[in-house]
Amino acid sequence: MKNTKELRTWLDDMNLDHPLVVAGPCSAETEAQVLNIAHQLKDSDVNYFRAGIWKPRTRPGNFEGVGALGLKWLQKVKSETGLKTATEVANANHVKLALEHDIDLLWIGARSTVSPFIVQEIADALNGTDKIVLVKNPVNPDLALWLGGIERLYTANIKNLGVIHRGFSTYEKTRYRNNPEWQIPIELQNRFPDLPLICDPSHIAGRRDIIFDICQTALDLNYDGLMVETHFDPDNAWSDAKQQITPPFLIQMMEDLKIRKATDTEAAYKNALNTMRTQIDVIDHQIIEMLGKRMKVSDKIGALKKSKNVAILQVKRWNEILEKMILEGKENNLSQAFISNLFKGIHQESINHQEKIINS
Ligand code: PEP
Ligand code: MN
Repeated sequence: MKNTKELRTWLDDMNLDHPLVVAGPCSAETEAQVLNIAHQLKDSDVNYFRAGIWKPRTRPGNFEGVGALGLKWLQKVKSETGLKTATEVANANHVKLALEHDIDLLWIGARSTVSPFIVQEIADALNGTDKIVLVKNPVNPDLALWLGGIERLYTANIKNLGVIHRGFSTYEKTRYRNNPEWQIPIELQNRFPDLPLICDPSHIAGRRDIIFDICQTALDLNYDGLMVETHFDPDNAWSDAKQQITPPFLIQMMEDLKIRKATDTEAAYKNALNTMRTQIDVIDHQIIEMLGKRMKVSDKIGALKKSKNVAILQVKRWNEILEKMILEGKENNLSQAFISNLFKGIHQESINHQEKIINS
């Protein structure tokens, strides 16, 4: 992708004084449900009304969407409220129907981005469209696959492009439904600073109570917008009930979020600094998490040593670790003195953990 500046023309042309907001239910359920939510959102910051019509579900037997009928409801949303519309497309037929119904923004879901065949089929069906097309990250943490999806659309002459960060699947249970792995979109931003980047806190969180914080982190990282699942009766939603918020909650959240605008050089400086500081915070958080994991393994080693009555300190092993880390440190531009101090600290903490176990 060469001229990435043109990719954000659609967004710049909107001249927004707030982040782009895409909101609406996970799924279109009934005409009345869709219209109720849209009317509650029509005088807010919301720019695009979303609703899933064809729903990719992890397991069969769940609600799989109302299908093409829902496109008519989205048209009604537009004519009654003036809100532009957005839906997910996952094959050439979806694209054909969505274009016929003049849906303004189409997104490719996380389960589709993983498949180059599907993305290519969608790209071919959309070839040359001036609709906005957003690519969600693939479910697995693979930046190359995500970029591949964007490139397929770009090559199909689709120039109103952007990406949606919705987090990544993990086998391990975390506090998130989909782990944000913020370093991946940060890397994408560094490589393609002009590509509009939108955060979907709903699928990252999987629960209502941390949506606000995820939005704030995204804005602190200079994201261009938010896609938030919004339902008038979240608890009774037919899909993703736990993570949807109500229209009044969304409206209040948009007021409470700290939104930074780069209006002058001073603000631009603060903006850049704030973005980098948030990047540092994300990395520091990961360092602490990794250290916590390392100590848990140490605890297990302690228990094993205890069962065999073996001494905690194994000098040979410790020297090997230190040597190896000093070499890896060099490759990452980190001084020998720093690595040596860092690992002495880690090693000491590890010994303390094992001692506690052995003496318990
Ligand atoms: C959705 O937006 O409702 C959806 C299915 O998202 P994802 O593709 O991120 O799972
Ligand atoms: Mn959903």
